[in-house]
Amino acid sequence: MAEKRDVVIIGAGPVGFLAALGLARQGIDVTLIDQEAGIVSSPRAAVYHPTTLGILDRLGVADDCIDIGLYCRGLAMRYPEVGDVIFFDYEKAALPGQKYNFNLHLGQHELAAVVARHLARLPHTRVLWRHRLGSLEQRDGHVLLGVETPQGQEEISARWVIGADGARSTTRHLLGMDFEGFTWPERFVATNVQVDLSAIGYADTNMVVDPVNWAVIARLNRGTLWRLTYGEDGRLDETTMWERIPGHYRAFIPPDLPYQIRQAAPYRVHERCAPRFRAGRVLLAGDAAHACNPCGGLGLTTGIMDANALYQLLGAVIHGHLGEEALDHYAAERRRIFLEITSPSAQHFKKLLSQPDPTLRAQQREAMRKSMEDPSTAQMSAVISRRIVGDPMPVGAEAAL
Ligand SMILES: Cc1cc2nc3c(=O)[nH]c(=O)nc-3n(C[C@H](O)[C@H](O)[C@H](O)COP(=O)(O)OP(=O)(O)OC[C@H]3O[C@@H](n4cnc5c(N)ncnc54)[C@H](O)[C@@H]3O)c2cc1C
Repeated sequence: MAEKRDVVIIGAGPVGFLAALGLARQGIDVTLIDQEAGIVSSPRAAVYHPTTLGILDRLGVADDCIDIGLYCRGLAMRYPEVGDVIFFDYEKAALPGQKYNFNLHLGQHELAAVVARHLARLPHTRVLWRHRLGSLEQRDGHVLLGVETPQGQEEISARWVIGADGARSTTRHLLGMDFEGFTWPERFVATNVQVDLSAIGYADTNMVVDPVNWAVIARLNRGTLWRLTYGEDGRLDETTMWERIPGHYRAFIPPDLPYQIRQAAPYRVHERCAPRFRAGRVLLAGDAAHACNPCGGLGLTTGIMDANALYQLLGAVIHGHLGEEALDHYAAERRRIFLEITSPSAQHFKKLLSQPDPTLRAQQREAMRKSMEDPSTAQMSAVISRRIVGDPMPVGAEAAL
C-alpha cells in the first residue's frame, strides 16, 4: 500500500524548499524528496533583488538570510578595452514601496539551508534525501509516484505533486514534455575564488563587457570570497577546464594579487521552457519549468516567484477557497512571464556583456551611462524582477480568500 500525502515536491533545491515552506505555513502536509544526500552546494545563484527579498520576508526567512549574506549596494559596468567603469549606487534607485534598497548576495545552498531550518520547525513536513523519482502515474484524484530509496523501491501517493527537480527534470520527462528553446554555444565556468578584489576597486557586483573576456564578478560574503563567472569555447575539452582557469583570470585579476580557487563548475546554459506548467495534478516550478542564462541573475529569481505564486494558489485550492482552475492561471501566467520577460531580459544581458560589434558596444556603453543616471531605470535587474512577480492571483481570487 502506498503511503498517502497531500503534496509531494520533487527536488529539495531552493524552489522546492520555498514552495514547501509556503504550503506548510498554511498547515498543509508536505513531503520533499531529493535524489542527493543533502543540499547541493555547487556554485550557482547568489544574487537576490529587492523584490525577491520581499517574498522571502513574507515567508519569514529574509532576516536570517540577511544576517548571513552580503548587502550589495552597488554595481559596476566595466569596459576594459577603453578603461571605462560606470558605477551605480542602488540606494539612490530604491523603487516606490520597496522595503529593501540593496541586493543580497548569498549562495543558493545557504538560502536552501535557512529555509530547511524553518521548515523543520513546522508539523507535517518531511524531507527525504536519497529518494529519487523514478515513475509517475496520474490516477483518479491522486498521483502515484515510484521512488528509488536506499531501502529499495517505494510508492508514495500524493494529491498534488510539484516538480521542482531542476533543468533536467525527471518530472517533466515523465510527463512526456519537451524543453523547447536553445542552448548557448559557450560553456559558462562558475568559480568561487578567495581574493581581495575590493582592494583593487571592484564593486560588490561587476559586469565586465568584452567580446572574449566577458564576466560577471560578485562578492559572495563579507570576507574575500568572490564568484567569478566567465565563458569559454564550448568545444574545448571540459576535463581540462581547471587548467585554463588561471589564463582566464589574467583578464580580471592583476598578476601580483594572490588568489585561491575554492570551487569551479562548468555549465551548459539554456533558454528553454516547458510547453505547459500543469498536467492534471502535477505542477512544474523553477528550472524544471524554465531555464535561462545566469547573466542578470534572473533564473532563481523567476523560480522563487513561481514558488510564491504556487504556494498561495495551491494552498487556496487545497483549503477549498479556490477551484482547481486557479492552477491553470498559475501555469499560464508563469509561462508567459518567463517567455515575455525573464528569458528576453537574460538574453539581452548576455548579448550586452559579449557584444562582438565595436560600434554597437560603444553605443550600448553610452546608453548604459545614461540609464545609470536615471533612478527609475538604473537598478535594471530590480526593475525587471518586479515585472517577474507577475499576477500571482487570478482576477478576483483575493476576494475568495
Ligand atoms: C553559474 C550560475 C549562476 C547563477 N546565478 C544566478 C543568480 O545569481 N540569480 C538567479 O536568480 N539565478 C541564478 N542561476 C540560476 C539558478 O541556479 C537556478 O535557477 C536554480 O538553481 C533553480 O533552482 P531549482 O530549485 O528550480 O532547481 P535546482 O537548484 O537545480 O534543484 C533541483 C533539485 O532536484 C533534485 N532532483 C533532480 N532530479 C531528481 C529526481 N529524479 N528525484 C529527486 N530529486 C531530483 C536535485 O538533486 C536538486 O536538489 C545561476 C545558474 C548558474 C549555472
